[in-house]
Amino acid sequence: MRKLIFCLSLFLLSTALAAQQYDLVLEGGRVMDPETGLDAVRNVGIREGKIARISADPLSGRRVIRAAGLVVAPGFIDLHQHGQEPASQRVKAFDGVTTALEMEIGAPDVTQFLKAKEGRSLIHYGTTASHVAARSLIFGAPLPDGAILPKSGPATDQPATPEQIERIQQRLRDQIDVGALGIGMGIEYTPGATRLEVIDMFRVAAERKLPVYTHMRSAGRIEPGSAIQSTEEVIGAAAITGASLHIVHINSTCLRDSLECIALIEGARARGLDVTTEAYPYIAGMTAINSAVFNPGWREKLGIDYGNLVVPNTGEHLTKERFDELHNSNKQLWVLIFANTQEIVDAIIPNPLIMIASDGAEGHPRNAGTYARVLAQYFREKKTLTLMEALRKMTLMPAQMLERSTPAAHQKGRLQEGADADVVIFDPQTIADRSTFEKPMEPSVGVHYLLVGGTPLIDEGKLVPDVFPGRALLGPGRPTAANR
Ligand SMILES: [Zn+2]
Repeated sequence: MRKLIFCLSLFLLSTALAAQQYDLVLEGGRVMDPETGLDAVRNVGIREGKIARISADPLSGRRVIRAAGLVVAPGFIDLHQHGQEPASQRVKAFDGVTTALEMEIGAPDVTQFLKAKEGRSLIHYGTTASHVAARSLIFGAPLPDGAILPKSGPATDQPATPEQIERIQQRLRDQIDVGALGIGMGIEYTPGATRLEVIDMFRVAAERKLPVYTHMRSAGRIEPGSAIQSTEEVIGAAAITGASLHIVHINSTCLRDSLECIALIEGARARGLDVTTEAYPYIAGMTAINSAVFNPGWREKLGIDYGNLVVPNTGEHLTKERFDELHNSNKQLWVLIFANTQEIVDAIIPNPLIMIASDGAEGHPRNAGTYARVLAQYFREKKTLTLMEALRKMTLMPAQMLERSTPAAHQKGRLQEGADADVVIFDPQTIADRSTFEKPMEPSVGVHYLLVGGTPLIDEGKLVPDVFPGRALLGPGRPTAANR
């Protein structure tokens, strides 16, 4: 009898355990994983922030989310997000993004950046070391608090001495030592940087086995200084030094020559170089009007005029007088730059080399709408991407790019057992962007749930208040359990 009771209680205990085997179960969704090609109705068991089980059999958990009719995919990874404040993080979440990194330009002070976000971030974060900021610092004109781009002046327009170049390199090494994921360069914002200075920065990246992310030197067709030449410059620096290279927003730098620029990247890759690129699905860019991008000659270079510059929110088109006033101001106003065409953007996005990255910041609809827009426009309406191809550009490809910076990225961008439980659960028939140039912060619709490290951040279509599941992604300079 006693033995029977013992067996019975063991049985009850084990069924009770089985009933709560997972913290969370996503039941009956269409599970899609671009790496393995899995595209099937499955149940997903999540435990301690990880995807513990993917199965056709029923799973039980403390909470069950019914995902029938919805797609269950890896959370989107945005390699290029400037807006790191809560308002931007909220709209990123509604756009399906679980990781948003400042890789293009980089944070001016990596320690400060990481400290400010620790325990306060909705989604995962990380940054490169900023060449632009290091240069400003060494020139004695450090960026003002909160700024990532300098006003044009001697620190942006003059060449650095060999001694200054060494000090800039040292500053970048120091930033890598505290957790930067690579080196970010905005060469167009520092036109005084010589070709050799650029190569010397790539040398630091190569020495630390980290990639360079770059906004290239110039846009447009006028030679010297065309987008083609700018692409050659950075591919050359990668070839010379061995550093991996990621060219940001090819759509807004190469403009009408975007497909040619992609062909140059294809050529470099065919010769064994590690070069990647990204784009966002909008015809306008946005940047600081007092930056060196608007140094004399910008109209000829971009083939546009004052009226193509528009102030976000107000919709004001600039005139020469207004431009002069704003360009010379110390106050950093951002302007939209209408310089591309829909035909070119539509040709770029489906290209297999293109990852999706938003270049997001308040003022431009790309901040809130990039990912849902790609799904709505290119998967659903134009049908130039399959759903799996679109997801690959938003999940696996950026995760693989990040693997050059941290082994922790192997657990991201995948819907697989053992991967981080960063998951977006959305309706493929309704997901769409709502942000416009007039209303740039309108959140996207169609994301029903968003898990960040297993924690629901969007639950039944609503943002969960007071949870901060975002964690830092760190480079090899600052070892963590994940990247030792
Ligand atoms: Zn840029």
